[in-house]
Amino acid sequence: MRIDLHAHSTASDGTSTPAELVGEAAAAGLDVLAVTDHDTTRGWAEAFAARPSGLTIVPGAELSLRWHGGARPIGLHMLAYLFDPAEPDLVAALARVRTARETRAERMVGLLSADGIDITWGEVLEYAGGGTVGRPHLAQALMRRGLVGTVTEAFAPEWLGARYRIPKEDIDVFEGLRLILGAGGVPVFAHPRASVRGPIVPDSLIVELAAAGLFGLEADHTDHSPQEQAEMHAVAGRLDLVTTGSSDYHGTNKTVRLGARTTAPEALERIVAAGHGSDVVG
Ligand code: AMP
Ligand code: FE
Ligand code: FE
Ligand code: ZN
Repeated sequence: MRIDLHAHSTASDGTSTPAELVGEAAAAGLDVLAVTDHDTTRGWAEAFAARPSGLTIVPGAELSLRWHGGARPIGLHMLAYLFDPAEPDLVAALARVRTARETRAERMVGLLSADGIDITWGEVLEYAGGGTVGRPHLAQALMRRGLVGTVTEAFAPEWLGARYRIPKEDIDVFEGLRLILGAGGVPVFAHPRASVRGPIVPDSLIVELAAAGLFGLEADHTDHSPQEQAEMHAVAGRLDLVTTGSSDYHGTNKTVRLGARTTAPEALERIVAAGHGSDVVG
C-alpha cells in the first residue's frame, strides 16, 4: 500500500487540475491520495468524479492557522481529513481566510507596482483560476515578466519571501482545531518541524494541541531534516499521536514528486476510524 496524504491541485497552488492530480497519483503507483488544497474543498468533486479505479481518495484540506502564544505570531498549517464540507462554522472560516488571502495578495501586487514591477492583480487572479490565491500565483506573474526563473526563486528574500511578503490573516490555531473537530474532521499538523520554511512552534504547543484534540503529526516530509523527522516521531510517540508521511505535491510549482513520502496503512486506518464528517472515496 502506498499512501500519500498531502497534495495540492489548481483548487489552490498546485498546477494539476483535481482530475489530473488523481490520474497522476494512480500513474505514480499510489493506492491512496488525500486531496488537501489550502483553505478549500473546491477540488473534491472533480477529484472524486475523475477517480481512477484502484485509487482511494481521502478528502481533506490544509488550513492556514496561527499561534499567538509566543513572542511573535507563528503561522502553521493544519491538515484536516474527512470533515463535513458543509459544516457552517468551518465553511465561513475558510471563506474568510480565502478573502483575506485575496486582499493580501492584491496589496502585495501594490507593493510590487510601487517599485515599478508592473504585474497586475487581474493576471494573478487569472493564474489562481478561481482557486485559493497564494504567493505561487504572484510568482507566476514574476516568471512571465522574466524577473525570476522559477517559483522557488520567487520565494527568495528579495521577492515574495520577505521584501514583498505580507502576512496572511489566519485562523487562531485552537479555533482551527475546534472547527475541524466540530466538522467531524481529523487534524494532522503539517510539516510541524520544517525550520527551512520559517519559525517553528515549540514542543510545548504540540503538547497543548494534543490535549485540544490534535490527532497526528506529519513527521515524514521533505522539508524536515533527518533530525527534525526523528524529533517529530519521538514527540508523537510520547503523546500517542499518529504519524504520517506525505509529498505535499504542488505540480510544477515545486520539485517534490507524488509519493516522495508515504504513510503507513495502520496510521491511515486510525485516521479513517476517527473521521466522521465525510467518507473516503473508492
Ligand atoms: P502563501 O500560502 O500565499 O503564504 O504561500 C505559501 C505557499 O507557497 C506554500 O503553501 C507553498 O505551496 C508555496 N511555497 C512556499 N515556499 C516555496 C518555495 N520555496 N518554492 C515554491 N513554493 C513555495
Ligand atoms: Fe502550497
Ligand atoms: Fe503546508
Ligand atoms: Zn501543502
